[in-house]
Amino acid sequence: MAVFSKEYSPFSCYEVGHTWTPFCPTAAAGVGLSCFEEGIKIYSSVYLLSALLSGKLPDIGQLKRIFSSILQSSFFLGCNGFCFISAFCIFRKLCGKFGVLSSGFFPSFLANIIAILVERPTRRPALAVYVTNVASETIYNQLVDRGFLKPIPHGDIVLFSVTLACLFRWFQTTQDHCNFLFKLLRALLNDGELRPSSNISTEKKARKSIWHRRHVLCPHTNGCIQNCFQILVKRFLCGWGLHACVSLVLSFPLLLRKPSNLLVLLRGMKHVRFGAFLASLATAYQAVYCALRWIRGKNGKSHSVLAGLFAGMSIGFYRNLTLILYLTWKTIEVLYYEGIEAGYLIKVPGFASILYSLSTSVLFHAAVMEPHNLKPAYWKFLMRITGRKISELNRKTLDIMGLQSSKMLPNFTPVYETNYLSDQFKLWLQGRGEH
Ligand SMILES: [Zn+2]
Ligand SMILES: [Zn+2]
Repeated sequence: MAVFSKEYSPFSCYEVGHTWTPFCPTAAAGVGLSCFEEGIKIYSSVYLLSALLSGKLPDIGQLKRIFSSILQSSFFLGCNGFCFISAFCIFRKLCGKFGVLSSGFFPSFLANIIAILVERPTRRPALAVYVTNVASETIYNQLVDRGFLKPIPHGDIVLFSVTLACLFRWFQTTQDHCNFLFKLLRALLNDGELRPSSNISTEKKARKSIWHRRHVLCPHTNGCIQNCFQILVKRFLCGWGLHACVSLVLSFPLLLRKPSNLLVLLRGMKHVRFGAFLASLATAYQAVYCALRWIRGKNGKSHSVLAGLFAGMSIGFYRNLTLILYLTWKTIEVLYYEGIEAGYLIKVPGFASILYSLSTSVLFHAAVMEPHNLKPAYWKFLMRITGRKISELNRKTLDIMGLQSSKMLPNFTPVYETNYLSDQFKLWLQGRGEH
C-alpha cells in the first residue's frame, strides 16, 4: 500500500471534493444554482412572513422591495456556494495538495467575504450573530472531541447567569429603547424598575401584614411578596400558553390528520418547563430588587447585576444551549455597539462582514473535515441548500490528516470516471481494496 504524508492529502479536487463530476466549473455552477434555488424558497417564506406579521398590507412599492430583497439574499446564498467550490479547486491547484486549513477554512473565508458583500448591509449584523452562535457551539464540540476541554457541569447555567447580569445592567442604563432585546426584556420584566426612583423615603411607615408590606422605594403598588407572587403566576401562564401555542401551530398539519393528538400535545411537559423558566426568571429579578432594598435601604444600579446572576439559574428548567449562546452573542453585540457609542471601543469598518466570514469558515472547515462536530441542524441546512452535495466529498481521502473526517459517513463510496483519476489515487484505491 502506498504511504502518504500525514499532514496533507495529495489528491485532486475531483478525487477529494466534487466526486459527482470531474469538471470544476460544472461542480461550482451546480452547487451555486442549488443554493440559489433553495435561497428563493427560504427567503420567500422569511420575507413574506415578516411582511404579514407587520399587520399591514404591502403596497406595490413595498412588494417590489420584498421581491428584490428575496432575490438579493438568494443571490448571496448562491454566490457563497459557487465561490466556495471555485475557491476549493483554485486553492488545490495553487497549493498542489489539500492541508487541514486549505481544504475548508481558507477557501471558505474567501468565498464568504465575496458573498457577504452581495447581501444587503442591514442583514449582515444579524447573519453574523447567527453564524457566530453556531460556530461557537462547533468550536466547543471540537475542543471536547480533541480532549482539550471537559464538559463543565452546569456550565450552561453559569454562562446564562453571567449573560443576564450583563444584559440587566445594560437594560437599566441603555437609551436604545427601540432595540429588539430591550423590548423583549421590557415585555418580560415590566418597566417598573426602569422608572426614575429616589433614595429618599417620602411615605410614612404603616403597620401592614408581611403579604402587603412594601418597601417605600419600590416602584410597584402592592406588597413586595404579593407582587412577586403575581409575577410568578402571570409569567407562568404566559410562558406555558406561548409555548403551547407555538407547538400547536408547528404541529397543525399533524393535528388535522389526527385531532385526538391535541390533548397529548397540550399536556406536554415542555410547556410547563418553559412556563417555569419564564416565571422564575421574572420573579427572581423582582425579588432580588425588593430584597436588596429591604437589606440595604437604598436603590443601586449594581442591583441589576445580582438580579441577573440569580435570575440566570432559571434556565435550569429549560436547558437549551442554542438559546443560551444566541442570547450571549446578542448581548455581546449590544454591548459592543453601546461601547462604540460611549467612545470606549473603536468602530471596526466591516466588522459584521469579517465576523460572518470567520464564523462561517469555522463551520465550512467542520463540514468538510469533521462533520460529526457540526451542529446537526446546520448540517441539515447545508444538505438542503447544496442538494446533498456536501455529503458527497470523499472524506476517506482526508482521514490521513487525523480528524476522523469520514466518521459520520463511513459507507459513502463515490463512483468515479476512471479516465480523470490520477495514478497515485488509483494506487490508493487499490491499497484500500476499493478497485
Ligand atoms: Zn475542482
Ligand atoms: Zn418591592
